Amino acid sequence: MKIKLTNIEDTRNQAVTQILDELEKKKKEAVSSGDEELANNCWRESEALKLNIRYIEAFDKIKSRKYRDAWNDLERCEIDADSIERNSDSNFVINSRCRFIKDKVEKWQSLYPYCVFVSPGFKVGYYTCSICNHKVRPRSRCSHVKGKIYGGELCVHVAHDLEFLEVSIVTKPVQKYSVLHNDETLDFSLIDYLSSFLDNAFEDWVAHWTRMSFAIERFSQVDPSDDCPCKSGKKFEECCINEKEISIPHVDFQFFKDIPDEKANVRFPY
Ligand SMILES: [Zn+2]
Ligand SMILES: [Zn+2]
Repeated sequence: MKIKLTNIEDTRNQAVTQILDELEKKKKEAVSSGDEELANNCWRESEALKLNIRYIEAFDKIKSRKYRDAWNDLERCEIDADSIERNSDSNFVINSRCRFIKDKVEKWQSLYPYCVFVSPGFKVGYYTCSICNHKVRPRSRCSHVKGKIYGGELCVHVAHDLEFLEVSIVTKPVQKYSVLHNDETLDFSLIDYLSSFLDNAFEDWVAHWTRMSFAIERFSQVDPSDDCPCKSGKKFEECCINEKEISIPHVDFQFFKDIPDEKANVRFPY
């Protein structure tokens, strides 16, 4: 059974759950018969399918202006696409749309107005390997590499005896879930504008970031105590108020209306 997977209706198809169940079953059988390669293939197929579903859901949420929910889905996509890429050859990464999704997730994220995040700090007692339960110490490691798959399971290091230390406010977080903004106060017009031109999560587009200069006269309405139009984050009076021109960040979107055949015709499981 192969299914088409491009829009939100496709993701709700009963067959999706069926395929995922079958892959899980096949993986278990492969593990018990010692066929590691087959088990890993099942993991890949299943993860790529789930990644596509999550990306389509994120796109759907962007279209319905649920920006924060979409953000969380995009972050999950980023993490999962990295795991798939680390454990697959480039053919699989391209043909399962994993490369496309990874690239687009980064571009969507760059259009979000989020810039500060909460990052909790922990002191970790010790880590164990999720594959063999070995206690990982600098001089005592098992043969498993973190982030690689073994018998269809992703190796992670599980932290134990966590001691909470502090919360820091950061601009480049390890994970991007904990956004420290109130969405009500933010401007999502770029995302809105872009998504209004896209009917489908797999249509290709490119954002070109540039700056455009405008004569100072155009900003006569801006109060000196307002934020500077150049988006430096400073007040107008402390920034460009005495310049002849103000340079403003500008983005051009380029669209490629046709979904390339190789993406439109992908059937899952790949
Ligand atoms: Zn191990
Ligand atoms: Zn300025």
